[in-house]
Amino acid sequence: MNLALLFDEDFVASDRVVLRGRRLEHIRSVLGASTGDQLPVGRVNGLIGLGEVIKLADSEAELVVVLDQQPPPPLPLTLILAMPRPKMFRRILQTSATLGIKDIWLINSYKVEKSFWQTPWLSDQNLRENLTLGLEQAKDTIMPSVYIRKLFKPFVEDELPALLNGKEALVAHPGTATPCPTHLNKPTALCIGPEGGFTPYEVGKLEEAGCQSVHLGRRILRVETAVPVLVSRLFDACL
Ligand code: SAH
Repeated sequence: MNLALLFDEDFVASDRVVLRGRRLEHIRSVLGASTGDQLPVGRVNGLIGLGEVIKLADSEAELVVVLDQQPPPPLPLTLILAMPRPKMFRRILQTSATLGIKDIWLINSYKVEKSFWQTPWLSDQNLRENLTLGLEQAKDTIMPSVYIRKLFKPFVEDELPALLNGKEALVAHPGTATPCPTHLNKPTALCIGPEGGFTPYEVGKLEEAGCQSVHLGRRILRVETAVPVLVSRLFDACL
């Protein structure tokens, strides 16, 4: 937690918050903070700044906050991801938030096991918690949106063309002819397949909707590796 993300319900006055649970534990045990210390904080979907600890008890911490700086710029990336295996999904969600992705579409694909859609990690509360952990890691405040589409064909035929409007559109697909571009730094939509890959039919449908197939070399990466590799190829984080 490089920054404590503050939600409306944490505010007891316009410049004061009370924190309990995970964030309190972190402030006490990991940061070893004392009264008078200043900690990085940010308001969800708002500014970042510092919070001064004015009270630290077993059950709660109270901070006076000054929020006066912009969070880091978002990535102009729409990530369209075949629903990953639950264990991976949680990590991919956190990593995506840390990298600055704000639009995440979880779609079905032939090789997505039906049971993956049953995972409790897809509940609103768990999505928010994991995205929060990812944002706190990056000192960001802008909560990503997650859209769930459990039917491939209607998504690709009815929604995807509009979603791709004004964007570079790519589908990462091993063995394809074109290498993935570098330093694109433009609004982009990127499709990433499941562990077993997209089927030829699915790649055809994604191409029909306007996506270009691109590859990352002969090595097959896990989805959780492919996401940061693709993002760092397409966008210059240090700009
Ligand atoms: N089993 C599949 C690979 C699936 S890897 C096969 O052998 O073809 C899971 C997803 O990560 C892929 O669908 C793709 O979107 C992305 N990916 C992983 N490695 C890649 C590579 N070398 N080139 C392009 N995409 C890759």
